Amino acid sequence: MGTHIDDSSESLIRRKSLSTRNGGMMTIVDTDETQDSLRVLKPSITRRVRVTDRLLANNRAFAARSDRKHLDVRPALRLAIVTCMDSRLDVFAALGLEDGQAHVLRNAGGVITDDVIRSLAISQRRLGTEEVALIHHTDCGLELITDDGFRAELHEATGMAPSFAIESFTDVDANVRQSIARVRHSPFLLHRDGVRGFVYDVDTGLLREIE
Ligand SMILES: [Zn+2]
Repeated sequence: MGTHIDDSSESLIRRKSLSTRNGGMMTIVDTDETQDSLRVLKPSITRRVRVTDRLLANNRAFAARSDRKHLDVRPALRLAIVTCMDSRLDVFAALGLEDGQAHVLRNAGGVITDDVIRSLAISQRRLGTEEVALIHHTDCGLELITDDGFRAELHEATGMAPSFAIESFTDVDANVRQSIARVRHSPFLLHRDGVRGFVYDVDTGLLREIE
């Protein structure tokens, strides 16, 4: 079914492209007559449409087969997890979690930023969580950059220095310890001692606790 839908969205894009060449209405940048600056966007726009269409089809199938029931907004395990955005870490599968059991906060690196503290404060003070698990991982994208290098790249590209910290790192264990310390020292959190930190191995799927 997924293949069928993907094919039809591809032919839809072909039809739109064709109709533009014939002088018809245009909604997608997908023609030979497009300005040079826009033509550069063509692969990403086409791809975005196709991927999103596939996800919408997946969602309809998901909603149709799920035994949906209303769950409490407060996580049943009273747990919040802070982890990286890495695409190889399926938090629910790796920890045997189910819907309604834990908050999962994700950003590049699983860094404890002010915004993560904001979410944890709401999680603990309004939604009843008492434990925090920090999960960093091997082979993280943040090990590929440096703070100074990436900051200079952004400044050069935009003329603006970013107001946020880049938070690159080279020692993942030390990075987990720093994140634990940030949670333990935040005055906004109610449960600062209930924090533990781990490194997830993206190749074995195993967690290693950082003391
Ligand atoms: Zn990562």
